[in-house]
Amino acid sequence: MKFWFATLALSLILSFQGLFAQVITAESPDKSLVVSLSLQAEKLTYKVTYKGTPMLEESPLGLVTNEADFSTGLTFLSKEESNVDKQYTQDRIKKSAIHYTANKLVCHFENAQKNKISIVFQVSDHDVAFRYELPRWKDRTVCVVEKELTGYRFPSVTTTFLSPNMKPMAGFARTTPSYESGYSIDATMTGQPSRPEGYVFPGLFRMGTKGWVLLSETGVSSQFCASHLSQYQDGLYTIAYPSMAQNNGFGSSGAAVALPGATPWRTITVGQNLQPIVETTIPFDLVEPLYQASKPYKYGKATWSWIVWQDASMNYEDQVKFIDLASTLGYEYILMDALWDTKIGKERMAQLLDYARSKNVEAFLWYNSNGSANDAPQGPHNKMSTAIERKKEMKWLQQVGVKGIKVDFFGGDKQETMRLYEDILSDANDYHIMVDFHGTTLPRGWERMYPNYVGSEAVLASEMLIFSQDTRNNEAIYASLHPFIRNTVGSMEFGGVLLNKYLTKSNKERNKRLTTDAFQLATAVLFQNPVQMFGLTPNNLTDVPAFELDFLKKVPTVWDETVYVDGYPGQYAVIARRHRTQWYIAGVNAQKDPLTLKIQLPMLAGKKAQLCNDNASKETYTKEVQIKQNGELTVEIQPNGGFVIH
Ligand code: CA
Repeated sequence: MKFWFATLALSLILSFQGLFAQVITAESPDKSLVVSLSLQAEKLTYKVTYKGTPMLEESPLGLVTNEADFSTGLTFLSKEESNVDKQYTQDRIKKSAIHYTANKLVCHFENAQKNKISIVFQVSDHDVAFRYELPRWKDRTVCVVEKELTGYRFPSVTTTFLSPNMKPMAGFARTTPSYESGYSIDATMTGQPSRPEGYVFPGLFRMGTKGWVLLSETGVSSQFCASHLSQYQDGLYTIAYPSMAQNNGFGSSGAAVALPGATPWRTITVGQNLQPIVETTIPFDLVEPLYQASKPYKYGKATWSWIVWQDASMNYEDQVKFIDLASTLGYEYILMDALWDTKIGKERMAQLLDYARSKNVEAFLWYNSNGSANDAPQGPHNKMSTAIERKKEMKWLQQVGVKGIKVDFFGGDKQETMRLYEDILSDANDYHIMVDFHGTTLPRGWERMYPNYVGSEAVLASEMLIFSQDTRNNEAIYASLHPFIRNTVGSMEFGGVLLNKYLTKSNKERNKRLTTDAFQLATAVLFQNPVQMFGLTPNNLTDVPAFELDFLKKVPTVWDETVYVDGYPGQYAVIARRHRTQWYIAGVNAQKDPLTLKIQLPMLAGKKAQLCNDNASKETYTKEVQIKQNGELTVEIQPNGGFVIH
């Protein structure tokens, strides 16, 4: 009799499961941010509210592998709740001492075939992070993750700040995708042109006056592919895996996973204003170092001939000029770009490196990554694409004292390319070499995961200021986006600070720079990367005001703290960064008219500071300013202009 009642009760619950949603919630430590997970009709969804306002409406969850389908037929098994309290220090990012606290919810489910899956949520005050964890299924210890259902359904008022994912095997020497598209700014979700390739991470979304959401992912290593957002379809964006056409059509989409295994973390950063978006450390909070630094690495500034003097500068004599420039500015490094292998050669390179060292300058050398991925013609070739050649080359690099490499033109976001990134990083650490990536994917937690990783391009960078009038026209607009989007989730090796009036060697004609000197100085602070390759040229030592050079000698490349001051992506941006006890505040204006701002600088309240700014004729000047006792300062920023305070 007792047994019969128990069976009846169970079957009632089971039948209710089909009709009514089972809802499980997790909330942030301050209770503002709430995720509700819902199982209804054997399908899993979630939604996100911030202070009671919907930020994400009912959105799908689920995963399909070649062994088990978790898109439907799910039954809830159990849940566990706990707290995460993690303190860590980290160099090379926006902040050095980080305290991450979150509430953790692990929900276990099984599908109709009794294969299990867990979804792990970590909810901190401004970030939701989640990932799928896959245990072993009886004898099955491996699987291929083919598809993810994870989606993001925003309220209909939402507007978007998204960068289209580039078509595979297109552009220069079929080297795309490389995260070098522009952005649509404040665009409606339905008003976008068809984008079959979707959009790259991170994506920024504005819910009218109610708040902001930044979507990204982190913890992508050799164990998975990198993902992106699909185009807007059926009312939502979904996680999309790389196009099969990447890497010249070779290699799979999806991920081969050893069980137990997990997907990367999906992250949702939420705020009523842009402060949490600028200040989030979530890409780093969720990951751990994958190996230890073989020795301490030193970050800093570099000169770089290629950006303005281009391919013709790849010769011994011109590189000497840029070594001398680095030495005069007190910069730690010179970056010697493509073609050095044939235009200088290894033997003379060893001599050049000796000369550089005699001037207290160390070197980064460029490498082509492409192997078999695309047609990028520049050498050195095939030195980074196989373990045997890579280790031979790195041994030589260590012998001649090269401190870093810049590896360019990667094939895409497939897992096989993620393996190549990790293999290059891991091998380079064995030879005490830092690694900078160009023609590349977004870094996803890599500053913390790989101790010798020092930055990625993954942006429409300074090279396009040389190549494209359209990019020059929009320089200030893009600069006003990066602190809120691309650069807030990872280091951005933009290669900026161009002080030639014309972005040519002669500095007399073609490629006229449309932004002011103060704007260029501002980008040295606004754009974060632990090794900055600046676009200065030897003539700048005599044709640029001394106070500008003094600033560029002093400006740090690593930061202890980053603070949102003001801004609106696409219009203007003001950010404060601290290096030890020194604060640097930088702003740019992308609007057509001068912008007068009353900014709050509590960190400099009552203090005097040095301002570099533009006058109405767009000439850059410097003067001392007094910040009020209440921390307030009024600054005017010229169109295509900027300012720095230090
Ligand atoms: Ca590039």
